[in-house]
Amino acid sequence: MVAPDFLDIDSQLSDEEKLVRSTARRFVSEQVQPLIREAFSSATFPTQIIPALGEMGFLGANLDGYGLPGMSNVEYGLLLKELERCDSGLRSFASVQGSLVMFPILTFGTDEQKRKYLPKLAAGRLIGAFGLTEPGFGSNPSGMTTTATPDGDHFILNGEKTWITNGGIAHLAVVFARAPDGIHGFLLERDTPGFTTSNLHGKLSMRASFTSSLSFSDCRIPRANMLPNARGLRAALQCLNQARFGIGWGVLGAAEDCFETARQYTLTRRQFDSKPIASHQLVQLSLADMITALTQGQLLALHCGRLKDQGRLKPEHISLLKRNNVRIALDIARSSRDLLGANGIMEEYSPMRHMANLESVLTYEGTENIHTLVLGEALTGIPAYR
Ligand SMILES: Cc1cc2nc3c(=O)[nH]c(=O)nc-3n(C[C@H](O)[C@H](O)[C@H](O)COP(=O)(O)OP(=O)(O)OC[C@H]3O[C@@H](n4cnc5c(N)ncnc54)[C@H](O)[C@@H]3O)c2cc1C
Repeated sequence: MVAPDFLDIDSQLSDEEKLVRSTARRFVSEQVQPLIREAFSSATFPTQIIPALGEMGFLGANLDGYGLPGMSNVEYGLLLKELERCDSGLRSFASVQGSLVMFPILTFGTDEQKRKYLPKLAAGRLIGAFGLTEPGFGSNPSGMTTTATPDGDHFILNGEKTWITNGGIAHLAVVFARAPDGIHGFLLERDTPGFTTSNLHGKLSMRASFTSSLSFSDCRIPRANMLPNARGLRAALQCLNQARFGIGWGVLGAAEDCFETARQYTLTRRQFDSKPIASHQLVQLSLADMITALTQGQLLALHCGRLKDQGRLKPEHISLLKRNNVRIALDIARSSRDLLGANGIMEEYSPMRHMANLESVLTYEGTENIHTLVLGEALTGIPAYR
């Protein structure tokens, strides 16, 4: 499938950046694309590809040190775009592993924690999950009720997290909990007594991804498994901002796939005097609107990537990127589905699967409303969350 580049944005990319993209595109189309329809329809993640994702250097790709790949943020963005061109579930797997599990260990962990976990997570030999959301606290995680009670050289963890990507298949969970002196991040290993998970069933979106509840009943966590520098919600938000940056890029892959599918379909589908539907002005309007929004999203992502590589990307920039690009990707998926007519609802065509997935992406990592409020606060200085 051709990736639309209407404004020759490719001319702004280095040869190394293009190489990351073409390597990722080949890997995904050969190894994952053939599996994805079945994975989505049977609501599973194709776990057999995880070691290959590690071998390719796709896990924690923009992290450096401890043998990690150390890609630039633009290269990382291009990689995530290729993963999500296939399915948001694939990109979600890489986002959680890299931005929400490896990043906090690298940023907030001890040297021992980094040496113990990072190489295995990078290789895909350990799978991670990130537990922040609770049944009663989604947009407002500061209200969390999961507790970590000190007990000698341990903490006792009690509570529940839900909507946790990879939860059911994770060997290790980064969990945020309330200790007497505030919120902290902990590393919880799978075999800890009292730690159980259950996968959520009945999702109509993000089906090629496991989403689970985590339950903690008197789980004893050694003090050595506390992330010493992950203090307060600020630490969790730092992780989320890494992931949100990747989402701002990734969703463009889904949007590009939808757009190209629709454009090609309109050139072959014939109606009214046997003319291709692409010859009608309203169909062209739809394609023109889509490519305009897509091009704006591509430019925004590239600029944010360059700013991040220069250390100048601010949280409110990431909110602008995530909010805009998820919205345009969802609009493009819906318009593409429409241009495919009845065929658009069939699994042979990707737009409806992407559209369904993007509804989750609109909600997770800060809903559209929450990012609107982040922008509102940045613009006015007035927080309007409450
Ligand atoms: C597929 C999937 C995977 C996920 N993976 C993870 C994961 O790995 N780890 C994790 O911790 N969480 C995960 N989540 C959870 C996700 O982050 C939350 O769903 C999200 O934060 C929203 O919380 P909520 O669903 O409780 O919605 P709510 O917070 O109940 O929001 C419902 C609606 O109210 C609006 N709203 C809430 N507060 C305000 C306000 N102050 N002003 C205006 N509007 C408001 C929201 O914008 C939304 O439209 C995942 C979710 C999904 C769907």
